[in-house]
Amino acid sequence: MEQVDTIILGAGAAGMFCAGSILNIAGTAGHRVLVVDHARAPGEKIRISGGGRSNFTNLATQRERFLSDNPRFCASALSGYRAEDFVALVDGAGIAWHEKTLGQLFCDGSARQIVDMLLNRMRDADLWLDTSIHSVEARADGYLVATSRGAVLARNCVVATGGRSIPKMGATGFGYDLARQFGLRMVEPRAGLVPLTFAAQDLDLCRPLAGLSVEAVVSHGHGKSATRFRDGLLFTHRGLSGPAILQISSFWHPGEEITVDLAPDIDIAAQMREQRGKAGRMAISTALARLIPARLADAIVAELGLDGARLADQANPVLERLAARVNRWQLRPVGSEGWRTAEVTVGGVDCRGLNARDMQSRDVPGLYFIGEVVDVTGWLGGYNFQWAWASAHAAARGIVAT
Ligand code: FAD
Repeated sequence: MEQVDTIILGAGAAGMFCAGSILNIAGTAGHRVLVVDHARAPGEKIRISGGGRSNFTNLATQRERFLSDNPRFCASALSGYRAEDFVALVDGAGIAWHEKTLGQLFCDGSARQIVDMLLNRMRDADLWLDTSIHSVEARADGYLVATSRGAVLARNCVVATGGRSIPKMGATGFGYDLARQFGLRMVEPRAGLVPLTFAAQDLDLCRPLAGLSVEAVVSHGHGKSATRFRDGLLFTHRGLSGPAILQISSFWHPGEEITVDLAPDIDIAAQMREQRGKAGRMAISTALARLIPARLADAIVAELGLDGARLADQANPVLERLAARVNRWQLRPVGSEGWRTAEVTVGGVDCRGLNARDMQSRDVPGLYFIGEVVDVTGWLGGYNFQWAWASAHAAARGIVAT
């Protein structure tokens, strides 16, 4: 039977980074690490991330950029391994990068460079790809992991099998089942950073506009608990997508409403009243098309039955209704596109069962959970990878110290 110090389940972002960090920290002390994955290639989500350029971190990383039932949990790992630390690694590997917006860092070349860097960093670890994991059992002398390549006995077992998003790429609920098996609690997983879907009447507006993108403010909730994102919004055949919608989707629960401002810097009601004073003979659609894209203006005017209507003939309440439709469009999504297209899983292994310093189970010594399998989910913008790096590094430090 194969014997190692640490077995890491999952060769994704967190698993590969953890392996490299253990070897780096342990140095010449030596530490046998084995990483096992059922996929044929490691780091597949990294490879496709950020449109193939990987948004590998965000310089504005702070715990407020993460969703969790236990919002303070992630702070310790995030402060122990910062975005700047990962940037230093990327620089050391000679990978050119650029900042897009809001601290989001992308490779100039290809996401593949990040995968190669991580593989190189863990070159002294064993990597078993295309290997199924049958069972994990705790014994007095460690964890016995039965795989399709044979049994392995390990002092430490790190679960880095990610969330449920994109099953086609190998995502499974394996980590959740394992957590339950060892008595850890779960925060019910749901799809996050995912396009939202809508009922027929809203789709009637979205479909003809498919492909149109506008800058919008999308908000959810009221008062202090309100969440707002200003970013791109994309009309699609299935509903709405784009960064602003993906961001809000992580906060949205079935049955809740969202509000969309399709012209965040423009008071449409005031502008339309002013236009009516200056050019009353102008068609409403022409006036509105001076403020928002013409396709969108035409669709909204048609939806409100104002086709061909002139500004001068409209009383204030009509203009208010038109303005509300642009500045305060209220929608009730019927669902999301689900795991098939979700970039992340919100929820996961309940942080209350883990030690924030090293991600080890509080009740099961030697069992660690890192990355997306844990109930810590970042906003869009490189935060999810930074959580993968930081949680993996925290576990690596803890493992080498024991
Ligand atoms: P993963 O990277 O998902 O790795 C889990 C590994 O476990 C996989 O290799 C999988 O094959 C393996 N595994 C699963 N189940 C089993 C099993 N039963 N047996 C054996 N192995 C198993 N985040 C960002 O920060 N920036 C981005 O630009 C970005 N872009 C994204 C684009 C897309 C399309 C998607 C889907 C996600 C994107 N993300 C991005 C999110 C990011 O990819 C994840 O948060 C991150 O990969 C999580 O790392 P992880 O190691 O925890 O899980």
